[in-house]
Amino acid sequence: MDEPILTIVVPCFNEEAVLEETAKRLRAVLSRVCREHLASYGSTILFVDDGSSDRTWEMIDRNIQEYRDITGLKLSRNFGHQNALISGIETARPYSDCVITIDADLQDDVNAIRQFLLKYQEGYDIVYGVRDKRETDTFFKRNTALLFYRIMGKLGVKMVPNHADFRLMDRRVLDEFVKYQEENIFLRGMIPLLGFRSTEVYYNRAERFAGESKYPLKKMLNFAIDGLTSFSIAPIRMVTYLGGIVAGIGFLIGMYALIQHFLGHVVTGWTSMIISIWMIGGLQLIATGIIGEYIGKIFKETKHRPRYTVEKRLLTDGRRDVEKKALESKLG
Ligand code: UDP
Ligand code: MG
Repeated sequence: MDEPILTIVVPCFNEEAVLEETAKRLRAVLSRVCREHLASYGSTILFVDDGSSDRTWEMIDRNIQEYRDITGLKLSRNFGHQNALISGIETARPYSDCVITIDADLQDDVNAIRQFLLKYQEGYDIVYGVRDKRETDTFFKRNTALLFYRIMGKLGVKMVPNHADFRLMDRRVLDEFVKYQEENIFLRGMIPLLGFRSTEVYYNRAERFAGESKYPLKKMLNFAIDGLTSFSIAPIRMVTYLGGIVAGIGFLIGMYALIQHFLGHVVTGWTSMIISIWMIGGLQLIATGIIGEYIGKIFKETKHRPRYTVEKRLLTDGRRDVEKKALESKLG
């Protein structure tokens, strides 16, 4: 097998405190894997500056001038972690055999990159970096993250637990990935959806090398809500069911109120009041749920997700796996 051209995509938002060290360590790893023939010498590191307001871009630029294996992408403003990653992936795709994404803060173990490439050599299309322990995260972050994975799992979104955005994807995966032209992409939920052969590599997650987390509570919450709502219409369904339940309870309470009324145990007006409160409450929830169901359908439609993913094509007489390019030229 030829050595793959690897691109390491690194999103950076106000990372001046770590950038120099990150570049140094990533370059060291890159030159090692090139020497070991795990990646080809054309491989590069792609820093994506996500609209930083500090000296991040200046530093990236200086590195680009100095080292041939460093490249950069500057976004026009802060688009957020996920979009920074996507912009890097899409930029790298045309010239890369595989892409590894990693955070700039050195929390992910750069040495795992070598293991990723070994797995790639074994034929895996996706390699997820999974942290062994979360000791270095705060108690709060660890538990909220766990809760998040749990809720997402219950709502039917497949995710790899304890995996952030440290992963390898090969060309086949990238080609499929760019077909998902939806606005809200939540990579951790999206990539497992693509299928293909995948595996995990475990590593110890370190403390942030320097600087502060760029994910304050507000961003974290938004991230969680986006993740949830861009994958699942389960919350809408819940409203519909809730409406049904409330209407059911309303009916029972209505019966009870009527019985009390005829037994003469009540003050005037109570029966009609109770019945109308529960009836209207239930009806309203059902109505909201029904409207929600339609919005859910529209939501799914507007994503224009591809309806299927082809893994192999067995179309020639010899039943060989025809590469996409060959197939396209055949079809004209
Ligand atoms: N990041 C980004 N844009 C943002 C926020 C964060 O590109 O709007 C980058 C950041 O520079 C880092 C990565 O995303 O490389 C993860 O952020 P951070 O380490 O602050 O998150 P945490 O590890 O605390 O969850
Ligand atoms: Mg971090």
